[in-house]
Amino acid sequence: MDKKLLLSIQYLKGVGERRAKLFARLGIETVFDLLTHFPRDYEDRTVIKRISDLTPGESVCIKATVMNTPARRKVRNRLSIARFKVFDESGYLNIVYFNMKYSLSGINPGEIFVFFGKVVDTQGMLEMHNPVFENINEAGHVKTRRIVPVYPLTTGLSQNQVSACVKNALTLYGDGISDPLPDDVRNTHKLSYVRYAYENIHSPASAEAIGIARRRLVFEELLILSAGLLMLKKRRVKQRGIAMEKGDVSVFTDNLPFKLTGAQRRALNEAAADMRKGVPMNRLICGDVGSGKTVVAAALMYLACVNGYQAALMAPTEILAKQHYKSLSKLFGKLYLNVGLLTGGLSAAAKRDIKNGLLSHEINIVIGTHALLSGDVGFDALGLVITDEQHRFGVLQRSALTVKGENPHLLVMSATPIPRTLALILYGDLDISVIDELPPGRRPVDTYAIDGEKRPRAYRFIREQLDAGRQAYIVCPLVEESDKVELASVKEFAEKLSENEFKDYSVALIHGKMKVKEKDAIMREFKNGGVSVLVSTTVIEVGIDVPNASIMMIENAERFGLSQLHQLRGRVGRGEHKSYCILVSDVNEGATRERLHALCRISNGFELSEQDLKLRGPGDFFGTRQHGIPNLKIASFSADLKTLKEAQAAAAEIIERDPGLKSAEHAELSERIKLLFAAEEYGNIFN
Ligand code: ADP
Ligand code: MG
Repeated sequence: MDKKLLLSIQYLKGVGERRAKLFARLGIETVFDLLTHFPRDYEDRTVIKRISDLTPGESVCIKATVMNTPARRKVRNRLSIARFKVFDESGYLNIVYFNMKYSLSGINPGEIFVFFGKVVDTQGMLEMHNPVFENINEAGHVKTRRIVPVYPLTTGLSQNQVSACVKNALTLYGDGISDPLPDDVRNTHKLSYVRYAYENIHSPASAEAIGIARRRLVFEELLILSAGLLMLKKRRVKQRGIAMEKGDVSVFTDNLPFKLTGAQRRALNEAAADMRKGVPMNRLICGDVGSGKTVVAAALMYLACVNGYQAALMAPTEILAKQHYKSLSKLFGKLYLNVGLLTGGLSAAAKRDIKNGLLSHEINIVIGTHALLSGDVGFDALGLVITDEQHRFGVLQRSALTVKGENPHLLVMSATPIPRTLALILYGDLDISVIDELPPGRRPVDTYAIDGEKRPRAYRFIREQLDAGRQAYIVCPLVEESDKVELASVKEFAEKLSENEFKDYSVALIHGKMKVKEKDAIMREFKNGGVSVLVSTTVIEVGIDVPNASIMMIENAERFGLSQLHQLRGRVGRGEHKSYCILVSDVNEGATRERLHALCRISNGFELSEQDLKLRGPGDFFGTRQHGIPNLKIASFSADLKTLKEAQAAAAEIIERDPGLKSAEHAELSERIKLLFAAEEYGNIFN
């Protein structure tokens, strides 16, 4: 593209230092950023109606003659009203402006204007409130009789200002936008020219034109993304990895108290085969809650150890790290492998011991939290890095651990099941194994959605379960873990429960603001049965394993996405006891109901994720930088799934033909990939 597009927007007329700062808040720094600041919606102002056809509530244009000069009056201290009458061939209408900041001096009797605004019924009389207006004799129309873009804004910037700046930028620099799509791709997929797309996405000639422009820009963005991800993958395959040819994972798996499921075996074989090759593994194991990812990871750690290497497992929370540490120490103790735990909560002396053990190779396997990333943690021979619940870690953190070895193998485990087709594309730089089968004997968790009035019944049911020796979770989500008012109300809620409904049982509260030691103590109590009812904010979300817990009650269930609810539900049904999940919500709105009912109906995480995607888009688990995917400006993984597949196929073909994107026709594509993957965490993807 023309280098001028990468100039600061301060070079645009009307953008000074102050306004540039406002734009920066929207992530807009260059002219190109501005041109790719796409409207989030459009307002159709093309329809001109006769006054007699107006209906209250609609926003339309009228073409009408002014009858009298607007009269402005102050009504109260802070309220002024300007009012006048207009007419067309069908009737009269009152136009009313509240607190109009701009001058109405151009509005003179006899002149004809187009007004666009909302029609309001005031005591049986129709009025139009605060319309924008244009004199029909003014050249060109900007505010009326066209489709107007609606841009994402920030305080201090108005629609008109953003619109004007974009327009200005398009006029001055629009010709400098080169097409990243090779001609044949554009033709094959019937995509518009690049200039047409930018013109019409920002100031559409018609509703149809928006569709054509959008399709092209979405395709383009997804092609750039897919091609970049493919290059990341290629870069890795060129690296030399550790060929772990010795040993046999069955020595480990034969020692387990159970047989692996078919899906576990498949995932294990795929990953083990990766590790035996001389290329660094980069694999995602995606499995439903409770599908048994941990033992698969353990078998791979075993493989690394018998080949003379060390393995590290990083978990997102201290509780989870400790739980892994406990179960893995047991498994590996029998095999004479040393397991260490490294978390932020350890004493300085304990940390030093672990660090020394890692350097001397006395410790074969280390389990830890972010503390593992610390600069003073080093290994003798790190051969395998595993991150659990990978959606909590970004690409950057994934790779921060791998630099502590020489191209060690990398395995990420995710309990957020995502549709396979989507995973293949989203995790373009990872190979994927799916564990889509639960260990035998698991019964689905019976799930019910109720409203608050039914709480007493639910509590009675919980007491019956407790009397039968089971334990229960009651989750009260906080909008913000740090919100003191909300936290106070959860504390109060827990107290009330322990004084009333559950006064004969032991109730404990756990929340994110507690010290790690306190949380651990409570979790331990819950695990060994000393606590019967655990009231919690969402800190139990990940990985906690208490097989005796058979009830999960979730307050304000509407605050969670389906995947999150499914994760929470996965905390029960882990033992031999029939388990239940009760979703409490007083929100009666259709989409929410539908979401909660989907959960009652469906127990398979993969099926649920398809639903989730359909019902509310990629939401919190895709589309964020946390996934290691760059932010997209126009494409949406849910709405544009079909285009995504097309674009990915096109990208694969291009990379196949021209792996380094060296040819002239791919110059712009290559430049745009660099721009999209500019963040340092990706490194130089053309290496
Ligand atoms: P997740 O995939 O959610 O991390 P875990 O690895 O924590 O699941 O496994 C959940 C439970 O299932 C653990 O108690 C584990 O010992 C047990 N488990 C794993 N695999 C099997 C299997 N093949 N048969 C029976 N139980 C298993
Ligand atoms: Mg797990």
